[in-house]
Amino acid sequence: MDPVRVLNVSDYTQFRVSPSVYYNRFFECEDNEKTRVSTTSKKRKRKERKPYTLNERERSAYQRHQEAKPLLLKAHEVLFGAKDLLHCISNLKSDGGDDDDSCCSNGIRELSCIEDGKKQSFVELGSVWQAPLYEISINYREENMTTGDSGSSLGVSRLVPAFNNLVMNESCDDVEAEILNNRYVLPGNSCFYMSDLKQIHDLIPADTDSGFNLIVIDPPWENGSARQKSLYPTLPNRYFLSLPIKQLTHTKGALVALWVTNREKLRTFVEKELFPLWGVSYSAIFYWLKVKADGSLINELDLFHHRPYECLLLGYCHGEGMNTELPSTYKHLEENQVIISVPGEYSRKPPVGKLLMDYLPGTRPARCIELFAREMFAGWTSWGNEPLHFQELSYFVNR
Ligand code: SAM
Repeated sequence: MDPVRVLNVSDYTQFRVSPSVYYNRFFECEDNEKTRVSTTSKKRKRKERKPYTLNERERSAYQRHQEAKPLLLKAHEVLFGAKDLLHCISNLKSDGGDDDDSCCSNGIRELSCIEDGKKQSFVELGSVWQAPLYEISINYREENMTTGDSGSSLGVSRLVPAFNNLVMNESCDDVEAEILNNRYVLPGNSCFYMSDLKQIHDLIPADTDSGFNLIVIDPPWENGSARQKSLYPTLPNRYFLSLPIKQLTHTKGALVALWVTNREKLRTFVEKELFPLWGVSYSAIFYWLKVKADGSLINELDLFHHRPYECLLLGYCHGEGMNTELPSTYKHLEENQVIISVPGEYSRKPPVGKLLMDYLPGTRPARCIELFAREMFAGWTSWGNEPLHFQELSYFVNR
């Protein structure tokens, strides 16, 4: 999967996501030699250690990995057999300009040159006492007036509170928004609610007919990585028990898609506590296999703490208007699908909405929400303490 292409095909009209910015850590192939050397030396070190008996949790993690491994190897083998696909992957980072590596050297990359250090931290901004006073201006273009929009605000700017407020772009086109001199792109028919977890209950619809048919969740799970800690705040597992999944579910039910890391403790927590408390019945697992520009895995498949894959756990939450059984008209979720892509920025997940669309309960267009979002999608609601993060103008180029 090329996440950039997926986003650009249907989410944006005036802008497009810049591949060179999306794939800013492209796992170039020259690292291969280094990776190979370092993993060999790690292997040597491991061999020197005394034999180690796995505890129960480690055995269970090992077992899961052994079950996933043949499937992942098979998927990877298929990728290697598809030569033209491999060729595409190696060129994904290109923005399509004549001189791709010289930032700002041509019009195409012009927008992508804002330095990382200047990026607005919404996590910080939202935590100060002035947060309720910050406003975001939605700047509708003249062209939006021809797209069948209904509001009287077309062709003008609309100023609304940025935090603890459902901010909507009701037009069909992407529009620019501005806060504290930073500019953002909001896809058509999208909305965001930027708040802390404490305010998530404000998102619960007054009636379940306005609930959601797809709920994608990528929680800030705690892990030992110092890198992760510096990028966004994390929360202990018990906080996720309070997510109002049932109340967010549409009358006709919802497919719940939860990203999890490979920690066994976490998998057990989800299966034994989280899904049952949310009222979600486990249905299937998808794997996201991460590859480099040459199609090779970003890490050795067996590397214990840095597996080159993550899991998406899928289950259904029944709506008020449903029997406990799913109607026979549902397209059955196929177990064990593998998504292969080159990862973008740290912890950024590939957009899975379109892959899941066929499996959603309820009528169309489906109502979709992402919890703990850092980006927005056309037609979706994004909630989290920084849903505008990847919407900053520097992630886009003009069409
Ligand atoms: N799915 C996202 C992506 O693909 O880019 C990554 C989400 S990241 C794993 C988790 C997000 O949860 C971060 O943006 C983090 O700031 C946010 N978060 C952490 N604590 C939060 C809280 N108390 N309330 C709301 N969001 C929070």
